Amino acid sequence: MTSSLIVATHNAHKTGEMRAILGDLFDAIEDLAAIPGLVPPEENGSTFAENSAIKALAAAKERPEALIIADDSGLEVDALDGAPGIYSSRFAGADATDASNREKLIVDLKGIPAPRTARFRCVVTVAQKSEVLATFDGTVEGSIATEMSGEGGFGYDPLFIPEGYDNSFGELSEEIKNGMSHRGRALAKFREWRSEHS
Ligand code: IMP
Repeated sequence: MTSSLIVATHNAHKTGEMRAILGDLFDAIEDLAAIPGLVPPEENGSTFAENSAIKALAAAKERPEALIIADDSGLEVDALDGAPGIYSSRFAGADATDASNREKLIVDLKGIPAPRTARFRCVVTVAQKSEVLATFDGTVEGSIATEMSGEGGFGYDPLFIPEGYDNSFGELSEEIKNGMSHRGRALAKFREWRSEHS
């Protein structure tokens, strides 16, 4: 039996991590590049779980035959009362880029002493035929560095030092990041669910 998965994202970095983590379970893992007609839904939920479900259901509506997975994720910084949270991708404004978001984080945390504790959170929603089948979450604790280091990963990775390490996610290998990250942990739960539901 062939099996495929559609990741409800236009973020090629997320798709890449999903492929690295789940590649052995599916014959093909595509993302929204495979559904060019899909108008991205407004992510107007107030939690990662709500926005994750919004994205999964929008893709499931377009491709009712497919198994869909969506990831909504972000960074919570304690000194910023949990910001940027669900606004992580647009922290620096509507036209934000990963670079401008990181720059704003560095500026907003200027003068705040270490440890500037933070965590990444991820909620993964699995959907098919306009129905949510399951939801999984994952978290990784860490802290925010004063300056960027490393070229790997995406988003806030060059600023995020996972607990127990001296290097940022931007410096650690993809394998190490995926083994402990918020996304890796949520997808480990998905993997277990999938083994019971395929
Ligand atoms: P979303 O695509 O609406 O879920 O927004 C996710 C945003 O959170 C990204 O644009 C990044 O800014 C941030 N983010 C989520 N996961 C990661 C990660 O693994 N590394 C670095 N930044 C991340």
